[in-house]
Amino acid sequence: MTPKEVLALCREKDVKAVDFRFMDFPGLWQHTTIPVGKLTEDVFEDGLGFDGSSIRGWQAINESDMLIVPQADTAFIDPFCALPTLVLICNIQDPITREDYSRDPRNVARKAVNYLRSTGIADKAFFGPEAEFFVFDDVRFDQNAHQGFYFLDSVEGEWNRGRDEGPNLGYKLRHKEGYFPVPPSDQMMDIRNEMMQTMIECGLDVECQHHEVATGGQCEIDLKFQEMVKMADQMLIYKYIVKNVAKKYGKTATFMPKPMFGDNGSGMHTHLSFWKDDTLMAGSGYAGLSETALYMIGGILRHAPALLAFTNPTTNSYKRLVPGYEAPVNLAYSQRNRSASCRIPMYSPSPKSKRIEFRCPDPSCNPYLAFAALTMAAIDGIQNKIDPGDPLDKDIYDLPPEEMAAVPKTPGSLEDALLALGDDHDFLLKGDVFTQDVVDTWIAYKKKNESDAIRLRPHPYEFCMYYDI
Ligand code: GLU
Ligand code: MG
Ligand code: MG
Repeated sequence: MTPKEVLALCREKDVKAVDFRFMDFPGLWQHTTIPVGKLTEDVFEDGLGFDGSSIRGWQAINESDMLIVPQADTAFIDPFCALPTLVLICNIQDPITREDYSRDPRNVARKAVNYLRSTGIADKAFFGPEAEFFVFDDVRFDQNAHQGFYFLDSVEGEWNRGRDEGPNLGYKLRHKEGYFPVPPSDQMMDIRNEMMQTMIECGLDVECQHHEVATGGQCEIDLKFQEMVKMADQMLIYKYIVKNVAKKYGKTATFMPKPMFGDNGSGMHTHLSFWKDDTLMAGSGYAGLSETALYMIGGILRHAPALLAFTNPTTNSYKRLVPGYEAPVNLAYSQRNRSASCRIPMYSPSPKSKRIEFRCPDPSCNPYLAFAALTMAAIDGIQNKIDPGDPLDKDIYDLPPEEMAAVPKTPGSLEDALLALGDDHDFLLKGDVFTQDVVDTWIAYKKKNESDAIRLRPHPYEFCMYYDI
């Protein structure tokens, strides 16, 4: 869509308000709105000034004037606003130099695609994330938790289960059996259908929707793969629709990776393929992969501990990456082993569908930064011909302990992943895709505001273990 076509769409749909959206550093959509009369073709060129100082992880207060530049090809009608409202996803620029802002996550993703092209390796990176989420009736958490106060009665079961503790009126899903009996056991069908339909109306190409394994209303809606930046844009529309439809039903949706102890967490397995005219993934190697694809796996596995600081960027992410819940813990690859972090899906014999499924990411990530980092690790693998080693095809439960111990594992905490990123980030800096400032700011922001914030506070379960000591 061009700016002219956007203005025509506004007239056709009787749009009254135009909402400008962009991504903050940690990964939440922000917005500011203008009356439709203020949207002219010039705005697409000149942008709109705003104060970037209060956006998490962005400019210091003394250099906070920024420009928000709407992208016509991202336009869609907001399905939730009472007043007819058009949404435009924006890039962020410096108003003086008109340079794209280096800490704008969308800019990092755009630079990763440009870098990929400049290497001559490929001209397209396709991404297909499978984001999972929970829909809860009622989440009991202590609003004062940020101050370190907890109430003892939220300590044991309820804290962990979080919902639906009334009487069992029948058809209640058994533990870990949410995947996937029909209603009335599946109580999320109508909500997911409405989410799916709303996504389609907003231009997303939905492939399927289903209940997931966890019993607390865990869901998944899958989108058809797209080019990287478009897919990251769509993930934000996806989250927006999921949360707002849940709210319409008097419920809430969460993308936190491990809301419930003892049940499956929510992943965002990410399918990745590079194309140059045709796919670069298919060949005569292991699982029908090309040499290029195997090097991509080599790069992803080599850099995985650092990569996870972007693909699994919350303290909660590491409560999901534990054995026993279909989440990967082994930094290895396989065509069948789901505990391996890189899987080669064998759903289709078509070479065009050949791809890598990186199973570590979770939906708490900022998709622009996560996809960009993943692309850079894959490029590094190709450039340095990184051998991924042997696949992990044996049943890991039968592996002798010494063989098992030799398989590298995912980091155990956000702190470990941030340390790994501190040690290993040259692959991200190529082509100025992630600047040193972006890497340093990410590490400092995540350490201070999240990793240390949790480390320094008494945990509710500590009260359970130690109160009577
Ligand atoms: N929920 C699982 C995870 O945390 C994935 C289940 C699946 O879709 O295979 O990765
Ligand atoms: Mg799933
Ligand atoms: Mg999957």
